[in-house]
Amino acid sequence: MSGKSFFVDLTKCTACRGCQIACKQWNKLPAEQTRNHGSHQNPMDVSAITYKTVHMKEVADDKGFMAAWLFFPEQCRHCTEPPCKMTADAYDDTAILQDEVTGAITFTEKTKDLPDFDEIREACPYNIPRQDAATKVMTKCTMCLDRVQNGLKPACVQACPTGTMNFGDRDEMLALAEKRLAEVQKKFPDAVLGDADSTRVIYLYQMAPQKFHDFAVAAATTPGLMNRKAMFAKLFGSTSRSKA
Ligand code: SF4
Ligand code: SF4
Repeated sequence: MSGKSFFVDLTKCTACRGCQIACKQWNKLPAEQTRNHGSHQNPMDVSAITYKTVHMKEVADDKGFMAAWLFFPEQCRHCTEPPCKMTADAYDDTAILQDEVTGAITFTEKTKDLPDFDEIREACPYNIPRQDAATKVMTKCTMCLDRVQNGLKPACVQACPTGTMNFGDRDEMLALAEKRLAEVQKKFPDAVLGDADSTRVIYLYQMAPQKFHDFAVAAATTPGLMNRKAMFAKLFGSTSRSKA
């Protein structure tokens, strides 16, 4: 498998939100009205006009003292076999596209004509798709395909000042991810790479991914994956064996 990938080294993230702002600027997305939720995080979730947001969580030690801040810059994972597209293709295989060169998954304006937004959202193991309430067009991170096709890095990667966000050929990013994993595991033995074989956004977690975000990885218990199984059953028939 070739194409492009991100490598996101969460051990280096400072939650400066430069990536979040750069995404807004490059994609000409407006600000949104938010309110204080008692957290530095803002906004609290991705939306039709926020393709990327930096989640922030405090982790306590076994005595209840704050042990660490965990930061998680969330975005579409550009899955190698994207359940969102597989679902949409049953209605219109030009509504969601997979770029042959980079592997980027992009939502087109034709997504507004798909019959059921919830079906697309629930197919995604990472709870990423959102829909514009007025136009009904579905939205998410585009991998900044317009930049990448002109030899530039995605805006979030270009803006990141700490080396958290990396982007390049998939083989190169996988090698970098494995190298950093080996280094980080010396200090954090539980460190892992999330869904590296099935996505183009490879996160390095210094502790259990679920501590960073409910939808950090496509665990078998996430609602998204359960819906993906339902989707496969719908598209390809029952997944259970029938009696002879
Ligand atoms: S993360 Fe979700 S929206 Fe993005 S490609 Fe995968 S299934 Fe589609
Ligand atoms: S720009 Fe880099 S360091 Fe800042 S929040 Fe985004 S990923 Fe983290």
